[in-house]
Parts: sequence; structure tokens; C-alpha cells
Amino acid sequence: MNTDTLAPDTQLVHLGRDPAANHGIVNPPVYHASTFIFESVAQLLETRRDRASGAFEQFTYGREGTPTTRALEDAVTKLEGGYRAVVTSCGLGAICASLTAFLSAGDHLLIVDSLYGPVRQFCDEFLVKFGVEVSYYDPLIGSDIAHLVKTNTKVIYLESPCSLTFEMTDVPAITKVARARGITTIMDNTWASPLCFKPLSHGVDVSIHAATKYISGHSDLMLGIAVCNEASFVPVKKTASASGYCGGPDDIYLALRGLRTLGIRIARHQETATAIARWLQRRPEVSRVMYPALPDDPGHAIWKRDFTGASGLFGAVLKPCSEVQFAAMLDHMELFPMGYSWGGFESLAVPTYPATLRSARPWTEKGPSLRLHAGLEDPDDLIRDLERGFARLVAAR
Ligand SMILES: *Cc1c(COP(=O)(O)O)cnc(C)c1O
Repeated sequence: MNTDTLAPDTQLVHLGRDPAANHGIVNPPVYHASTFIFESVAQLLETRRDRASGAFEQFTYGREGTPTTRALEDAVTKLEGGYRAVVTSCGLGAICASLTAFLSAGDHLLIVDSLYGPVRQFCDEFLVKFGVEVSYYDPLIGSDIAHLVKTNTKVIYLESPCSLTFEMTDVPAITKVARARGITTIMDNTWASPLCFKPLSHGVDVSIHAATKYISGHSDLMLGIAVCNEASFVPVKKTASASGYCGGPDDIYLALRGLRTLGIRIARHQETATAIARWLQRRPEVSRVMYPALPDDPGHAIWKRDFTGASGLFGAVLKPCSEVQFAAMLDHMELFPMGYSWGGFESLAVPTYPATLRSARPWTEKGPSLRLHAGLEDPDDLIRDLERGFARLVAAR
């Protein structure tokens, strides 16, 4: 079947599976494998040539993937218009493998200031130790990033919107600067899922997902995927393989199962997040809501230009209140328990501390901030839970 001409919801149903090759069974089998037996020296040598040529078509060893791995890689590659993808043990693994694929001692890395915290830690504590020069750029920099580029800049790393403060970066403006200078761009696209933004068609070389989040959708596994264009596939594949990042077969199977319903889930996450965000904007306890899908969000114009939808993760800054008041709200939420991660079927809340994760563009908000994930529950139930939370906050005054 030629899936290229199909709409995304139809693609989600058909990509990465082939019933005719599997006794007519709808879903692809889960291959549990470390070892692949070679029938002859000639066949073994053939797999070595396959690898050396950068084809990576043949299966040789479990760490390099199985047909189950390939099914998920092929599905997400098609969704994002990539060349090939590499599945890893978690989202951070996909990021670390992609960064180290293109960086060597003496190279310079430009990284967005608002990015996912553990990546900042990897860059500051590990890449620096191996002689990589790391500097941070303002997420709102746009084409002015050209002024930060040095002769040794090898990689520009993007995330938009970022998952604490939700600023929108002008991705095409940055990739234009990078392309003109031969700089590789790597983007964390987890917030948008493969449905709402297509990094590769906006000039990005490697698009990364924490499949732990929306792709799996059920808060029960860790997995990452790096979708590559043709030039970036071999370096990322080799680095992921050499560093030992490989995903487990049952987790990959569950991620494929999650992928089937991604379209309806994301639509519902967006609808509920929008309803809650609008309600929050009218609350006297709230200073600002951060969700680029809202028409008055500072990033809305870029979101509207480049994205085809939004997920259910957004932020809010409250008016200044005491720690006791903030805790009175968050400690007793029923439908928004506190937890890291997001992208599952359930709602979550978590206090955020952006000021501790900034160096290029300081965080100047006075009030406490939180991040909410709008799950698949009834939106009115969720709003009532937040309403009771604000009542506790006010009462604790
Ligand atoms: C969770 C997350 C990651 C890391 O994914 P893991 O699977 O937890 O390693 C990367 N980027 C963003 C934006 C995330 O939210």
C-alpha cells in the first residue's frame, strides 16, 4: 500500500504493520531476540558489508534492533517524512546519541535556553567534560542566532515549544542560518508528537521524540526515537548502537499500539487543554497561561504558521502567593496528581522552577509556576478539581 498519499489518521492505522507477512495477524509480532543465527560465513560477511556500507538493512544482533524495532521506526519515519529512524531506550538516549553523533572535542554547540532540564545537565556535566563548548540561546532569538554562530559551531539544538515555559522558537529562521553554514540541527519534537509539527520539512536534520510520552500514551514505558534525514541517519544509528541505547521489544510493541490512537488522543488533549487554559485565564489567582494554541499567547503566530495542532501540555504562572498556599492547592488535587512525565491518558500537575534552568534569558516572573497535562478525563471534572484547588489556595492565606 502506498501510505504517502493517505491522511495522518489513516496512516496511523496502517503504518508499521504487514498482516500478510504474519499469518494475517493484525499487529506485528514481538521478537524477543539477542541472537540471530547465520547460515554461512558468506551470510555473516554479507551482514558486515551491509553495516559497513551504512545500509543497516539486515538484522545481526538484538542491540541493533529486530523487526519489531523496525516496525516502529518505519511508522514514525513515514509520519514525519524522514529517511530512517533509530529507536532508543528512552527519549534522553535519543537526544544524547544524536548530540554525540555530530560533536567532537573542540566543537561548539548552541542550545536553546528553555530546553528539557536533563539535556542541560548532559551538556553542562558531560559534553563539557569531553571538550565540547556549550552555549545557550534565547528561545525567541530567531534569525539573530547568526550572531552566536562561531567557526567551530557544529550543532544547533532546538525545542519548541519547550516543556516548562512554552516559548515558541522560529524553527525555519534558525534552520536557514544552520543550513547556510553546514551546521546540523537537532530538535526535540516531543510536545507536538509526530502529528502536529514536522521538523524535517522545516529544515531540521534530526527530530526526536520521547516516545515515553504521547506515542506510547499510557504512562507505562520508556522509549525514544530519532527520525533522521538521509545525511544524519548513519551517524545517529552508529552512535546509538555504539553507546548501547536500544529499546526493549515489549515496550516497542506497546508504543506501536499507542501510536494507533495518537490522532484521536491528541485531538482530545488539545480540546481539553484549550478549555482549561481559557478557564484559567479568567481566574483571579492566575497571572498568565502559557499555551501557544491560545490566540493571545506570545508564540501563537509562529504556532499557527508552522503547527497543525497542539498537545495537552501547558503552563500557568500564578499571582504571587506563599509556598504554603501553593502547596495547599497542589497537595490535595484529586484528578491532577503530581508527577513528572506527561503524554499519558491521565491528567497531571507539577510545580516548575524555571528560574533555576536559565542562563541566556532570565525568568522574571514573581509568582509560582506550574505545568498541567490535560488528560482524557471529562474537562468539567478537571475544571472542578482545579476550582477546589484554588479555593484551598485562597483559604490558606
Ligand atoms: C520526557 C522528555 C524527554 C526525555 O524522555 P525520556 O523518555 O524520559 O528519557 C525529552 N524531552 C522532553 C521534552 C520530555 O518531556
